[in-house]
Amino acid sequence: MSDLHTMTLAGLREALAAGKIGAGEATAATLERIAAVEPKVRAFVTVAGERALAEARALDARGPDPARPLWGVPVAVKDVIAVKGMPTTCGSRILEHFEPCYDAFVVRRLREAGAVIVGKTNMDEFAMGSSTEKSAFGPTANPWDTTRVPGGSSGGSAAAVAAGQCFGALGTDTGGSIRQPASFCGCVGLKPTYGRVSRWGCVAYGSSLDQIGPMARTVQDTALLFQAIAGFDPQDSTCVDAALPDTPAALAACEDLAGLRIGVPREYWGQGLAPEVEAACRAALDAAAARGATLVPVELPHTPYAVAAYYIIAMAEASSNLARFDGVRYGLRDKDARELLDMYVRSRSRGFGEEVQRRIMIGTYVLSAGYYDAYYRKAAQVRRLIRQDFAEALKRCDVLCGPVSPVTAWPLGAMDADPVQMYLMDIFTISLNLAGLPGLSLPVGLGADSGLPVGLQLLGPAFGEARLLAVAGVLERALGPLPAPAGL
Ligand code: GLN
Repeated sequence: MSDLHTMTLAGLREALAAGKIGAGEATAATLERIAAVEPKVRAFVTVAGERALAEARALDARGPDPARPLWGVPVAVKDVIAVKGMPTTCGSRILEHFEPCYDAFVVRRLREAGAVIVGKTNMDEFAMGSSTEKSAFGPTANPWDTTRVPGGSSGGSAAAVAAGQCFGALGTDTGGSIRQPASFCGCVGLKPTYGRVSRWGCVAYGSSLDQIGPMARTVQDTALLFQAIAGFDPQDSTCVDAALPDTPAALAACEDLAGLRIGVPREYWGQGLAPEVEAACRAALDAAAARGATLVPVELPHTPYAVAAYYIIAMAEASSNLARFDGVRYGLRDKDARELLDMYVRSRSRGFGEEVQRRIMIGTYVLSAGYYDAYYRKAAQVRRLIRQDFAEALKRCDVLCGPVSPVTAWPLGAMDADPVQMYLMDIFTISLNLAGLPGLSLPVGLGADSGLPVGLQLLGPAFGEARLLAVAGVLERALGPLPAPAGL
C-alpha cells in the first residue's frame, strides 16, 4: 500500500485489528516510505528494517490481539532512549557504538502494547539544542521545507512523524524538545507532568527537568501513545504512583469547551513574537471562545528570568550527568592515551561536540565553590518563583495557552554564530519544565508569511494530561487538519 503513510495511527490500528492490513504489510510499507524520503529528511540515526519486519511477521503469525492497543503499529524512538540490540547514540560520537543491553521502561511498554519499533531518530547531541543541527551525525531537515530546521532536540522524531516515516514517535522534553519540534513540523507533541512517565533507560540530560513523551500526527494518536507509556515504575525514583485516567476515552467524550477557563498569560503574547505566529495562535483562541471557552488574562511575572534560570540549572545537571562518559565505562575511548587523566581528557575531547563541551564547562562553573551561591542557588530560587507563578495562574483557570515558539522553523545554519540567540528561542517552553507541569503543542495553521506550521501550546496542572488532550481535540476539530507537508 503506497499511501499507507497518510493514515493516522488510530486508523491504522483499526485496520490492523480488523485484519484488513497485516502487521508485516504495515511495517514493509513504512520502511518503503522511510527509504523514499529519508535522503531528504535524514530523520533516523538507525533504521532497523529487518528486525522490524521479523517482529511484525511474528505478530501476524499469532494474529491481531485486541488486548494490545498498538498491535502492529510502526513507531520510532528518539536515540536517547535505550532499545536493546540497537545503538543508542544520543546523537554523539562518544556513544556511536554503544548498544544498551536492555529496553527502557517506555520501550517495554510499547512492545507490550504491540508496537513495532522501526528505528532510532536523530537529535541534538545529548538533547542539547533546539534545531537538531547539533547531532554528530548531521542535521535533520524539516519535511515542510528541507532547507529549514525541524526544531529540536527531538527533531528526528518530529520530522519522521510529519514525513509519514512512522505513525508516532517518542521524544524527550527537558526545556521544550518535544513541543518545539512538534510545532516546527506541524505535529502534536505532549510533554507529560514530571514523574508521569518513567525515565528508566533514558540517558539523562537535566534530571530535574527531563520527561519522555509522545509525538504524532493527531491528538487521538498522541493520546493512544501516551496511554501506553504512562504509569508508575518503581525503577525511576522520580516516577509518581498517580492514577492514570483513560485518556483516549476522556478525549472522545469531550465535545466542546463550555465552562472551560483558558488563561492567556500576558508575557507570552508580547514583544518578540512573530506576527504570523501571533495571528495563527489568536485565531485558535477565537475558535476556543467560539466553542464555549472563557479567556482569562493572567500573568506569569517571572517569565523574563526563565531562560537564565533554566540554562544554569540544565547545564549544572548536565555537567554532573555527563561525567559518566569517561572512556572507561561507556563508549569511545581514545587509544593513544598514556595515563588515566590523559584518557579522560582525550576521550571526552574527541567524543563530545562543541555545544556539549560548552555546557559541561558552564555547568561545572556554576556549581563550583564561590560561584554556586551566585548562580546555581539563585537559579533554584527563581525556579521556585516560576512554579509559584503557575500555581497562582492555575487558580484562576483550567489551562493556560500561548505560542510554543516565537517564530516558525528557521533556515539550517541561521543560528550558528551565537548560541545564546538559540537559547532565547526557548522562552515559551522552558518555564513549564522548571515547574514540572504538562504541556501540549498543537498545530493550528500555517504562518501567513513563511507558509510553515505554527504550534499553539496548552499548559496545564500537574497530571492534567487528559484535560490538555481533550481541549486540543476540540480545537483540532474546530481548526481542521493541516495539509500534507509540501517539502517532500
Ligand atoms: N533547547 C533546550 C536546551 O537546549 C531544550 C532541550 C530539551 O528539551 N532537551 O536545553
